[in-house]
Amino acid sequence: MARVLGFADRQVHRVRCSEVFELDVGDLQAQLVADRRQGLLPFMIVATCGYTETGTVDPIAELADIARRESLWLHVDGAYGASVALSHAHAHLVAGLGAADSVAWDAHKWLFSSFGCGMLLVRDRGHLCSTFGVQSELMDQQAGGLSEKPEPWDLSVELTRPARAMSLWFMLRVLGEERIGRMIDYGIDTADSVQARLQAREGWEILTHAKLGIVTFRYNPGTCSGEGLDRINTKISDTLFKDNLAGIFSIRVSGVVGLRVCCITTRLSEEDIDQPIQQIDKTAKQVCKDF
Ligand SMILES: *Cc1c(COP(=O)(O)O)cnc(C)c1O
Repeated sequence: MARVLGFADRQVHRVRCSEVFELDVGDLQAQLVADRRQGLLPFMIVATCGYTETGTVDPIAELADIARRESLWLHVDGAYGASVALSHAHAHLVAGLGAADSVAWDAHKWLFSSFGCGMLLVRDRGHLCSTFGVQSELMDQQAGGLSEKPEPWDLSVELTRPARAMSLWFMLRVLGEERIGRMIDYGIDTADSVQARLQAREGWEILTHAKLGIVTFRYNPGTCSGEGLDRINTKISDTLFKDNLAGIFSIRVSGVVGLRVCCITTRLSEEDIDQPIQQIDKTAKQVCKDF
């Protein structure tokens, strides 16, 4: 995002994450002090609500306090996880989202819309109008003179655009907020259930616990370590894919290769989970035997 806005990589400072993969608030504060001491002008914190890799949520409420105190803009990347705000049982996991200055939120992820329906929510609409609004003879004519309410073309870079929001609109009209909330809960519960099934089997190690519908894990039979384990887990993923059993792709978590599942489809029944897990287990044992 920063790159699109014209900032060079050197102007973006990465903040460390804690051992539970959340943005480390202490490191952020130390960097703010250090940057200002060097004469730099920090102006924005970017937090994540639902990391794609692990489902982790940054401490948004705490970051909002810091942002307010230090006059910084707080942007939250909620592309994946902002939908949890609509959940019934788990909305507390994304508490604080409402304190952000802007939130990116993909409807084509966990609001079940088709590609590509994404949103940017901003606290103060005036910022969009002052950034993107244009006055021209043509536009003002089309809008029937200077209109009171902002026209869509005054709110983003696009003038002519497809009706991307239609899929979300239908989703909300047909399913309704209540049902969508339950569908989101279902995904979160499904990941918990995948985790429990893996833990009940010999040799499976949870790398990051089920969060927002995502769990990462690896096969660790205890017979090798380091690179050997990485190769085994890469091979498990490749074999499952090659044999058309499951698309469970590998991911690096804290430097080790693991496997990741994301359970946000409501089409998965309990039995639908059982079978692939048996397959994964069988494949893992076979891969190890061949090693
Ligand atoms: C998917 C995702 C993105 C990218 O969103 P697109 O709609 O694919 O462009 C950014 N951030 C997070 C956390 C995501 O999960």
